[in-house]
Amino acid sequence: MTTDIQKFLKKIEAENVKFIRLQFTDIQGLPKNVSIPAIQAEKALTDGIWFDGSSIEGFARIEESDMLLKPDLATYAVLPWRPGEGKVARFICDIQTYGNKPFEGDPRNVLRRTIAEAAKMGFTFNTGPELEFFLFRMIDGVPTTEFEDRGAYFDLAPTDAAEDVRRDVVLALSDMGFEIEASHHEVADSQHEIDFKYGDVLTTADRVITFKFAAKSIALQYGMHASFMAKPIAGINGSGMHTHGSLSKNGKNAFYDPNAELQLSDTAMYYIGGLLKHAKAITRVANPTINSYKRLVPGYEAPCYISWSAANRSALIRVPAARGNSTRAELRSPDPMCNPYLTFACMLAAGLDGVKNKIMPPDMTNSNIYHMDAKLRKKLRIDMLPGSLAESNAALLRDDVLCDTLGVHVVDNLSRIAEMETDAFRLTVHPWELDRYLATY
Ligand code: GLN
Ligand code: MG
Ligand code: MG
Ligand code: MG
Repeated sequence: MTTDIQKFLKKIEAENVKFIRLQFTDIQGLPKNVSIPAIQAEKALTDGIWFDGSSIEGFARIEESDMLLKPDLATYAVLPWRPGEGKVARFICDIQTYGNKPFEGDPRNVLRRTIAEAAKMGFTFNTGPELEFFLFRMIDGVPTTEFEDRGAYFDLAPTDAAEDVRRDVVLALSDMGFEIEASHHEVADSQHEIDFKYGDVLTTADRVITFKFAAKSIALQYGMHASFMAKPIAGINGSGMHTHGSLSKNGKNAFYDPNAELQLSDTAMYYIGGLLKHAKAITRVANPTINSYKRLVPGYEAPCYISWSAANRSALIRVPAARGNSTRAELRSPDPMCNPYLTFACMLAAGLDGVKNKIMPPDMTNSNIYHMDAKLRKKLRIDMLPGSLAESNAALLRDDVLCDTLGVHVVDNLSRIAEMETDAFRLTVHPWELDRYLATY
């Protein structure tokens, strides 16, 4: 047993932790866990815990389903919303197969592999995601789309229950080591955003999962449902997960160059060029459901055109005004239904491809693209993001760089899921169709 493990065993005992959750995510980014009593901690931390991967979405076939959960010691945290008696702590795990081989279908492993690629080029990748979500009313234990409050952007809502949930989420996340930068009411009724400080990409991907888990758990204690669905209600803003990204080298922000145009280094330009080049394929993972594509439409502050800008919020990539160590590019397409490990891995791989191949982005677009006609967009070479899951999946299959990044196992499963979802949607007759056609035809 290493001294590190001994340290954690002591900590678990000193903090009176009774249960330990070993957490990981499936290919869809849904958190899974097994709970073990604290007396099993030594075994779990030393050897790992075997589980049956065959019933996890996108994992294994029945015949090769034994998988090993290996807790990542750096992710230890007590879950603050669980009772003080019988305390619960969690570790986020890496997944291995026989012979301690990292499992190629583990989203966290996909991200780790891409981080290693970046390291070979001397880069580390930092991300800062902004998660938006709705707080909906639950009726008889079932989530509805009824609003809990009627505030708007940056409103100082009266001290209502939704405000309390947001405060409790901020407090819980702070206890778990997040540095919360801001929390505010978003544009739509009952819509909220909580922003935490950027960090290295693996830590922030873990934090996205923890964030959603905390918000859902705490909302439930208030009888509410925290929804991270991209577009739960037609006609109003959906929820995004804008993700700020920057590369650094030797501990210095590699996007900042005080002498360059816009003070953006070549590395920054190539990163943007790479993201734009691979934008369609990235959409498959950043916008993973049928519903995600109902957010990517004009008029609701979500992007639908492949362009970049230093100011304009209708662009896919925006470069915020801050420079120096805060120089970064914000990708505005991801939504909070996405698997953060896969999404961040694809962003990083696309950016690195830009750097490797010196991909210069086209000129930036500073006017509002929503107001341009098709002819002008064509002249400026502004293409559109995919309009459906089927389209983005096809784009991913055409993108060799991102297919290599995700690996055959993950790509096959993403394809299977996209086809299954598209078929299921097509097999349904929706209320819109009846309204539109039933009386007329
Ligand atoms: N909700 C918007 C989106 O879908 C973003 C709104 C904002 O943060 N300005 O991306
Ligand atoms: Mg924001
Ligand atoms: Mg926002
Ligand atoms: Mg933003």
